[in-house]
This record gives sequence, C-alpha cells and structure tokens, in this order.
Amino acid sequence: MHTFTYLNLIGDGVHNFLDGIIIATSFMTDTHLGMATTIAVAAHEIPQEIGDFGILIYGGFSRAKALLYNFLSALISVAGAIIAYLFFGQILWLKVFLIP
Ligand SMILES: [Zn+2]
Repeated sequence: MHTFTYLNLIGDGVHNFLDGIIIATSFMTDTHLGMATTIAVAAHEIPQEIGDFGILIYGGFSRAKALLYNFLSALISVAGAIIAYLFFGQILWLKVFLIP
C-alpha cells in the first residue's frame, strides 16, 4: 500500500465529518436549507468518492477493500451529523462559518 492511500482516507474522513456537521446544522437552521445543502453535498460527493476509489485502487487496495474503506470513511459523516445535533447549542457561533 502506498502511504497516500492512508492520507486520502484520513483526509476524506475529515471532509465527510465536516459534511455531516454542515448538513445537520443546515437542517436545524431551516429545512429547505438542509435539503439544498444535502443536494449540494451529494453532488460533490459522488465524483469525489469515485476519484477516491480510483486513488485507493491505484495505491494497492483490492476493489472490495477500496469500497469497504471508502464506505467506512463516508460513514464518518453520520458521526459529524450526530455530534452537530447533540451540541447544536454549543456550536451556534460556528454557524456563520458552516452555513455559507
Ligand atoms: Zn464533501
């Protein structure tokens, strides 16, 4: 395995964590904003995850392992959404950065 595969997974995980926070914060601000944000996130995630899959394959992962690790990385967005939901009151000051 090339080291860039692990960097890609870590970077993607952080990215997905923030996406989860942004989606949850958008929904808690306004339902329509949440739906628009979810569409925007899905629109950039699909090509980005295909690219990440290619990076993992190029770096030495098998197809099954690349799919599994990419899926696990995507699940981190759920953790971000749950944390944003639980701590929404404490992260209100971050809305000015998260919503735009
Ligand atoms: Zn994203």
